[in-house]
Amino acid sequence: MFEQALPLLQSHFGYSSFRTGQEQAIQSVLTGNNSICVMPTGGGKSICYQIPALILPGTTIVVSPLISLMKDQVDALIQVGIPATFINSSLSFQEAYDRIQAAKQGEYKLLYIAPERLESPEFIEDLKYMEIPLIAVDEAHCISQWGHDFRPSYRHIQKMIQMMPQRPRVIALTATATPRVREDICNLLEIDERNTIITGFERENLSFSVIKGQDRLKYLLDYLKKNDKEAGIIYAATRKNVDILYERLRKENINVARYHAGMGDAERAREQERFLTDQASVMVATSAFGMGIDKSNIRYCIHLQLPKNMESYYQEAGRAGRDGLASECIVLYSPQDVQIQRFLIDQSSDRTRMTQELEKLQQMVDYCHTESCLQEFILHYFGEAETEPCGRCGNCTDERTSIDVTKEAQMVLSCVIRMGQRFGKNITAQVLTGSKNKKVTEMGFERLSTYGIMKDKSTKDVSDFIEFLISQDLLAIEQGTFPTIYVSPKGKEVLLGNQQVHRRETVQVKQVSKSDPLFEELREARKRIAEVEKVPPFVIFSDASLKDMCAKLPK
Ligand code: ADP
Ligand code: MG
Ligand code: ZN
Repeated sequence: MFEQALPLLQSHFGYSSFRTGQEQAIQSVLTGNNSICVMPTGGGKSICYQIPALILPGTTIVVSPLISLMKDQVDALIQVGIPATFINSSLSFQEAYDRIQAAKQGEYKLLYIAPERLESPEFIEDLKYMEIPLIAVDEAHCISQWGHDFRPSYRHIQKMIQMMPQRPRVIALTATATPRVREDICNLLEIDERNTIITGFERENLSFSVIKGQDRLKYLLDYLKKNDKEAGIIYAATRKNVDILYERLRKENINVARYHAGMGDAERAREQERFLTDQASVMVATSAFGMGIDKSNIRYCIHLQLPKNMESYYQEAGRAGRDGLASECIVLYSPQDVQIQRFLIDQSSDRTRMTQELEKLQQMVDYCHTESCLQEFILHYFGEAETEPCGRCGNCTDERTSIDVTKEAQMVLSCVIRMGQRFGKNITAQVLTGSKNKKVTEMGFERLSTYGIMKDKSTKDVSDFIEFLISQDLLAIEQGTFPTIYVSPKGKEVLLGNQQVHRRETVQVKQVSKSDPLFEELREARKRIAEVEKVPPFVIFSDASLKDMCAKLPK
């Protein structure tokens, strides 16, 4: 059977050879194994089930959460002569009925369905009349509570499989599996972990960087001017941010499109089309944009605010450079964004998921503060052990010299210990800089010997330095609504003088300035938040969210 694979790749898809992992995945499926295929976005996962679907008798079912893309995927298959169709909520009852009847007649090689469909007992019944050799579970991390995009309807997949008269084999596909998620997928879909096909996560053509301490808008405009011939995506945290930035860029005569869930279907489709066909060079969007988008010549992907976790970040950033040419992935980091993300997590998650989401957020923050290779940081996050510095990311190419900050680190660490290791970052910074803040005085922190020992620095700078110490594993965080910091074993070594700490010359981290297009929105939000008084007054909020966030605040 396997001999047919390469000729089919060439005749139907027009590619001359397989990419890393594809052959192995196809072989595993054809052998009859349940398998899991973990490849980065753009790695070519679809082929891993499409070619087996052509070779095996009957109809392969593809479960996918991406309703808006099913049509494109199916159209693409039909165009190369592969009979395929999809069933989801965009169809009328009659259309869905007709397709199911045709599927029962065996007219399709591939049938794409949304997971919600599996909640219908009638549909499960219909499946019993089809010959189904293979079930492909796309975006398989959606099945795991540990994943970043858990969808309860994915849990129906197991039931579907059990109901089938002939047990089909399964292939799970994902780009974002940490070892824990991978394990979960394997358990839930009864995949032997030995049948894992995992390709390296490194994307050699991407260079990552984190920009701190600069006026975001100015940076962005300069960047766009320098790269005006190229296509790129700018991700913003909220719909409102997208709209504001979109208008602002239009004023600069930039050929920009926008995309977020608050727009009508038709407009969204039109904007997406303008970007995909190069009529618009810049796409400003929320994370609603991009899943499965196949535009190969995206040269840069900029995150205007901190993404909520590494999985989302790598997936979104990975949309750049699918054609293999050098591309840039940039996060414009402002420490204030962390507060907003924390707040959103606090409001929207149940208790059990909250700690986990906060930990993921912290790793994203660590990414922004690390001084080691960013690509390596990402690879370690996804469980790759043996890596080398990439030599191209912002940190690898940073020419600023490192200075010895052991003494400053000791000041912070000893202050944390003197405060009893049960307070947060901000109040620690205030104690170190000798703030007269009520909370500081009320707690009697003025009497500590470390009170004010860093008073030549601003609270923001010290706060930023603490974040750096966290990213270096010298301080650790106990997550919760009010996270507290404590000294790690490695931090103790620094206190004892057994280990030194080096840091590159610091960049000044600025507050959001008036010229920032999000300034007004930010100010409004702070007011609202202060009114509600849910949050201690020393927490500074950023421009990240607002309308969305305010909507969530108790009235
Ligand atoms: P993923 O689902 O892993 O994100 P896709 O399956 O959408 O990736 O494939 C990404 C791109 O790579 C598509 O444009 C696809 O046509 C292309 N591609 C897949 N396999 C090959 C191959 N063997 N050779 C060349 N291009 C390929
Ligand atoms: Mg895919
Ligand atoms: Zn690097």
